[in-house]
Amino acid sequence: MPTLWLDEIGADDLARVGGKAASLGELTAAGLPVPSAFVVTADTYRSFIEATGIDDELFSVVDVDSDDSHALAEAAEQAQELILETDAPESVREDLLAAYDEMGDEDVAVRSSATAEDLPDASFAGQQDTYLNVSRADLLRRVKECWASLFTQRAIYYRNEQGFDHDMVDIAVVVQQMVDAEKSGVMFTSHPSTGADTAILEAAWGLGEAVVSGAVSPDNYVVDRATEEIEEVTVADKKVMCVRGEDGETVERSVPEEKRNERVLSPEEIHRLVEVGDRVEDHYGTPQDVEWAIYEGEVYVLQSRPITTIDEGADAGTSGESPESTGVADGGSMQSQSDDVRLSGIGSSPGKVTGEVRIVTKLDNLDKVEEGDIIVTEMTTPDMVPAMKRAAGIVTDQGGMTSHAAIVSRELGVPAVVGADDATERLRDGQIVTIDGDMGTVEQGTEIDEADDEQSELATPEVDQQHSPVKPMTGTEVKVNVSIPEAAERAAATGADGVGLLRIEHMILSTDKTPARYVEDHGERAYIEEIVEGVRSVAEAFYPRPVRVRTLDAPSDEFRQLQGGEDEPSEHNPMLGYRGIRRSLDRPGEFKLELRAFERLYELGYDNVELMLPLVTDAEDVLRAKSLMREVGIDPEKRDWGVMVETPASALCIEDLCETGLDFVSFGTNDLTQYTLAVDRNNGNVADRFDELHPAVLDLMGQVIGTCRDYDVATSICGQAASKPEMVQFLVDDGVTSISANIDAVRDVQHEVKRVEQRLLLESVR
Ligand code: PEP
Ligand code: MG
Repeated sequence: MPTLWLDEIGADDLARVGGKAASLGELTAAGLPVPSAFVVTADTYRSFIEATGIDDELFSVVDVDSDDSHALAEAAEQAQELILETDAPESVREDLLAAYDEMGDEDVAVRSSATAEDLPDASFAGQQDTYLNVSRADLLRRVKECWASLFTQRAIYYRNEQGFDHDMVDIAVVVQQMVDAEKSGVMFTSHPSTGADTAILEAAWGLGEAVVSGAVSPDNYVVDRATEEIEEVTVADKKVMCVRGEDGETVERSVPEEKRNERVLSPEEIHRLVEVGDRVEDHYGTPQDVEWAIYEGEVYVLQSRPITTIDEGADAGTSGESPESTGVADGGSMQSQSDDVRLSGIGSSPGKVTGEVRIVTKLDNLDKVEEGDIIVTEMTTPDMVPAMKRAAGIVTDQGGMTSHAAIVSRELGVPAVVGADDATERLRDGQIVTIDGDMGTVEQGTEIDEADDEQSELATPEVDQQHSPVKPMTGTEVKVNVSIPEAAERAAATGADGVGLLRIEHMILSTDKTPARYVEDHGERAYIEEIVEGVRSVAEAFYPRPVRVRTLDAPSDEFRQLQGGEDEPSEHNPMLGYRGIRRSLDRPGEFKLELRAFERLYELGYDNVELMLPLVTDAEDVLRAKSLMREVGIDPEKRDWGVMVETPASALCIEDLCETGLDFVSFGTNDLTQYTLAVDRNNGNVADRFDELHPAVLDLMGQVIGTCRDYDVATSICGQAASKPEMVQFLVDDGVTSISANIDAVRDVQHEVKRVEQRLLLESVR
């Protein structure tokens, strides 16, 4: 059968119809109001390529070296052409049109639904193409375009990189009645972090894309399911809506003035939606995240997925706040000590663990670190990351909250204490210690009681991921910082709205070679691929959420430790020296290789990648970088790009920076604070003077946000201070667009943002 109706499909048909269609089939079988649809099954695609005899040619044209961008582009073009230009058997055509007519001869939505039994995420095996407003005459062409979407450059590259056979991936196509929604949104059938019996709905005008993509701040409604009482109604200022454009594409439009602040859902609609939500949850037996739409007064369910973010340890009786604090440690300050504390430093990655000490020096073989050990070292280096992943905890003599050890351990979810002075001398190999990454303490022996035991379990990366933070609905976006590609999945599981800072220096430093030496030894293409591969894994994990990738910014003292480092300048104060955009503009050849890596990622289809320039001084820096972007083929008008505001000069020249045409700025408060206060961020002697909340720093930031709002330039923060509640309060009050926090702080920041936004709303109506 080339086509199947939704009521003929169940969860068991996954391999034939793909995940999307299987889930719609289940909802239909449960009697839920799903817009009617039929599915062109994966067998149909398979028989199309086999019956027409194009299969062998298809799989042989895509058998290319995907690192060769020209070969890849050509392969994608040829494969797609082959599908699009080969006529489908007449029987398929007839069957499709008959099903179309049966549905009511109205324009339809056509969506691909990839199937691949062993792939972790079939959605990346084939692009998720959607065509709206498809007429009868265009139906077969659109179905073939969905089939052809299995062979975009990005899909071919992905399968090649992952070692998946092109032949093992099939694709089904869903042809569905269009729901030209007047209002739409999402609904959590139970509270998404506590699992409490509270339904939470978000609603906006028009098609659901605006809510799902985060383009609009939706209304928010909270309903107690037991009493059916609507407990909270928050009406947002809804500036944009998605509607169906004339050519069938979804387009973003301004909401008419009179509807911007109008409440979207009536109490009656809320109750109908909650009732539908109850049925969906009953059907699956677990809380669901439901996409819905209202069209001509009827409620429709468009999609449903289980909520994976409920914290099992949470008190389901509470309605909102995170029950356990992730304990964002206070950067730089030493914590109070009890009598039996042996050592203290800065708690830089939360959690309490016990393990055997492994003293690691630079020359040591890292194999000596076994699963569950506590690494004790002077300072971690990028080549230690695999051992850090195995470790239960990390202690370093040196470093602060923004050191390599602190950043990497937080991203890996491994408790860490940094800056513990003489830990490598005072601790012995094999000794049992307990470290507390919140308090910043290291104690001899096993100090963990039962309650702590639970906590330490939470601190292990695996468990932490399951209990990942959930996203409360906030108008201000909350993103996450990533520095090592290994943390991509864990970061994505936080529910963050994207990556606000992806540092690429860790990817380069972990090669143990300076960029120049790497290129000398392996060639330019390999260097570009090194960056592409690191960024790609993060862009993939977050797609389509945006990932802001920063060009190289490592001080020369870090490069000096690598092979080729002897050619690096020896600087009196590297923090004030040859780093960030200054170095890049001084070495345009190397910088252009980085830019070519961006261009390559765009070519591969990673249109969620944004480019960010570090440590700019003024517009001159930006304009020079922009012209180099153009030289490698990046069109700054087409791509989202921006700069870090982390020098006082850049803050003071913000108007000129906005005039360069950038899309966003992001505060690097680690640097902005050190340069504004003249306090070296790595100098322990003045650590007590390092204060990101100093009025001088806040004043600069406030001015930048104000000017950027005038220019419609988005503002963000990605420095360590983003995890501090006071900074969150200040920024949300001032109207920042997004906040990017460390992985372990995302949940707290989301709640803090929500609290401030609610206060602002309350103040505005009082
Ligand atoms: C900053 O300066 O705040 C920042 C995020 O950049 P880095 O810490 O990498 O200098
Ligand atoms: Mg910086």
